[in-house]
Amino acid sequence: MLTGVHVVFLGGDARQIEVFQKLSELDASVTLVGFDQLSNPYHGIQRKSLSLELLRNTDALVLPAVGTDEDGRVHAIFTSEEITLTEEDIAALPKHAVIFTGMAKPYLSKLCAKHRITLLELFERDDVAIYNSIPTAEGAVMMAIQHTDITIHGAEIVVLGLGRTGFTLARTLLGLGARVKLGVRRPEHFARGVEMGCEPFYLTNLAQQVSQIDLLFNTIPTMIVTAQVISQMPNRAVLIDLASKPGGIDFRFAEKRGIKAMLAPGLPGIVAPKTAGRILANSISELLNEVTRSRGDGQ
Ligand code: NAP
Repeated sequence: MLTGVHVVFLGGDARQIEVFQKLSELDASVTLVGFDQLSNPYHGIQRKSLSLELLRNTDALVLPAVGTDEDGRVHAIFTSEEITLTEEDIAALPKHAVIFTGMAKPYLSKLCAKHRITLLELFERDDVAIYNSIPTAEGAVMMAIQHTDITIHGAEIVVLGLGRTGFTLARTLLGLGARVKLGVRRPEHFARGVEMGCEPFYLTNLAQQVSQIDLLFNTIPTMIVTAQVISQMPNRAVLIDLASKPGGIDFRFAEKRGIKAMLAPGLPGIVAPKTAGRILANSISELLNEVTRSRGDGQ
């Protein structure tokens, strides 16, 4: 239970609804900032404006998936007001306060380090990344269906990277009957690819593997699908980049060749905000429980 813990939510999207409802059920005292256009009356949950007074009485501050931009602006879809988290705001938090976000830009990381406020980036956690890979893979399939005129069943598909997202996606595509070629750099990932029923290859040979593909999904967050690789692809190929911005595909060259290529960020929040919110809610409530328990133990 989170009795006596004051959690402030600053901006965000539909995912935060799941999170604040769960924390409220666990008896946390919840305050929302930047949710004035959310019509549901949530029992026992307060709405306030951002103020230093509020922050001085905060035990945990929950920010959106991307905490702030590089100027401190907070993405908030349920308000028309612009919300900015300033250095003065961070400095006002009590030293025991914890900030939760999906991932932090250097602006937020630096301010938290400077003012010794604990910053927990949930998307860095293995468990959250693995749970999130499920809606991500479903969203990737949705994009493939929307942008092709063939079935995934029987398609020749390259998946680049066998990390948390690549693994779930490759298995999902195999389950749908695709022929999955898996680009990896480690022998153990090559072996895993064989075990899964994919056709693994080393990334050094990428350009030789793409001449017959229908689709390519990239999960590697570095430039990997270069102009040289794209020049070997058939025109029908559709390239979907799941890696975070700027992705790993040479979009300029793909466009020049008339090959459809797109970045597909934030899929869990788009295709399954409720599930994505539950994933965050579970993780935040577990972490808050740990923090409050360790404080109770006097650590
Ligand atoms: P991950 O578990 O770290 O997997 C990354 C994969 O990329 C690993 O297979 C890794 O290989 C490979 N890799 C990294 N750098 C490489 C390089 N220089 N050369 C070759 N391979 C390289 O990460 P993840 O959780 O799967 O996430 C992958 C990307 O998708 C991230 O950018 C993440 O932010 C993004 N993402 C996007 C969405 C969305 O909605 N679009 C959702 C979730 C995640 P090794 O194991 O050999 O290092």
